[in-house]
Amino acid sequence: MSTKLLGKLFETVGSENVVQVEETVTKLSKDYYWYSPVLDKQLENKRADYVIIPDSHETLKAVLQLAVDEKIPVTARGAGTGNYGQAVPMTGGFVVDLSKLNNVLEIGDGFVTVQAGMRIRDLEKKIMVTDQELTIYPSTFVKATIGGFIAGGSGGIGSVTWGNLWDGNVLSAKVLTMNEMVVERTVNGEELLDYIHSYGTTGIITEVTIPIKPKSNWVQEMISFATIKDAIDFTQNIAEGNQWKKRLVTVVEAPIPTFFRPLKKVIKEKDKHVALIEIEESNHNRLLEEAARFNGTSIYTAEAAFYRKGIGISDFTWNHTTLWALKNDKKWTYLQNFYSLKDVHDQVGKIKERFGDEVLVHIEWLRDKGKLIPAGLPLVYYHSKERLYEIIDYFNEIGATVNDPHTYLLGAGGWNLHLESIANKKKENDPFELLNQEKMPTHDFVKAP
Ligand code: FAD
Repeated sequence: MSTKLLGKLFETVGSENVVQVEETVTKLSKDYYWYSPVLDKQLENKRADYVIIPDSHETLKAVLQLAVDEKIPVTARGAGTGNYGQAVPMTGGFVVDLSKLNNVLEIGDGFVTVQAGMRIRDLEKKIMVTDQELTIYPSTFVKATIGGFIAGGSGGIGSVTWGNLWDGNVLSAKVLTMNEMVVERTVNGEELLDYIHSYGTTGIITEVTIPIKPKSNWVQEMISFATIKDAIDFTQNIAEGNQWKKRLVTVVEAPIPTFFRPLKKVIKEKDKHVALIEIEESNHNRLLEEAARFNGTSIYTAEAAFYRKGIGISDFTWNHTTLWALKNDKKWTYLQNFYSLKDVHDQVGKIKERFGDEVLVHIEWLRDKGKLIPAGLPLVYYHSKERLYEIIDYFNEIGATVNDPHTYLLGAGGWNLHLESIANKKKENDPFELLNQEKMPTHDFVKAP
């Protein structure tokens, strides 16, 4: 970048909002793409020219206007906890870190309006004062921002009841576009689907309004089972039944629980499969009775008073499960897949028979468009890219459809995104194609069914 341009940048945003320390620029150009050995190789050298951390909405708008005027690529960043290199700048330019735009603007009855850079845990703390709570959030809620979750995530804690991001969990958003004159648009209804999980390719989200619900008292429970079949049947029962008020229903196959180092004292039997559940206090006793019916034994309970105080069971679920496996052995990686509700036992059986301990079962029960799904985040012991795709092919062959997490291309991993609509919105909002370059797949891919 020329000295003249750098001068303009300093003038526009103030030198204090531009990161100039080389190592920090490198750090803020990365996310958790290294979960994938495939992406790790592809993205290790990608780096922004400058990282800008605007401290006001006006500064953010000004830096985007400068990028449009000078045709500089822009990649938005929340906390950089994405797993597919979503926040990695492929072609240099500016990384714009939203983390200082973190004010709650309004908490109402059933909704909250908040700036995009707010960390999700801080947001929930503020909401709880009003006796309300968030519907869904990722297991990275301590670090992750609400804007980053909406633009780069999918679901998480709460999804077993409230579904994924595109199931009414975003009510409206304000978005800055990259037109000749940068403008802010308010987006509602169906149009939100052009921004949810679109990696910031269609605009920079500045604020969002999301639904909130009356607060519950969540008890955390871990139950062990001798067979994976019992663990799956029990958790399906809890996930399915409306009589159970739940926030999290997870199953991990043995020996995954032994990877959870902080739970060493709790995980005494290495060959037991474990269900991790967040359940409303009033349902807790009944849950234990139900577990006994499926030959399950409670191995850990945290009463509601301990919820969100220190480490919680959600710290071992969703993609945190993979993180604990990686801490145990760097060769672990993972897949994302949907089992079929009626064939889940058959599919799990076939996978175990074919791959043995090379693939370990991890299921998150969730609702997607109202439908209950046993969503897999299986651990895979990595040998080579070829072998990884052999495993993916087999999952697809038996109908346990994989959303490939080993690609940075938007939509290439499935999720049934409205890619064509997102591509059209990009043309409208980002005519110079500056936003998160190279993440949008080619025209032919977008058109494919
Ligand atoms: P970032 O990673 O910074 O950004 C994500 C994407 O959004 C990028 O493409 C970025 O360019 C874009 N972006 C960021 N902010 C904006 C903005 N304001 N406007 C427009 N675009 C923007 N994901 C889940 O969905 N559920 C989980 O339970 C879950 N668990 C995880 C566990 C672990 C241990 C890890 C490492 C990851 C997990 N993830 C999960 C992935 C990730 O943590 C979440 O998706 C998270 O919400 C991303 O938030 P972030 O602030 O870190 O976003």
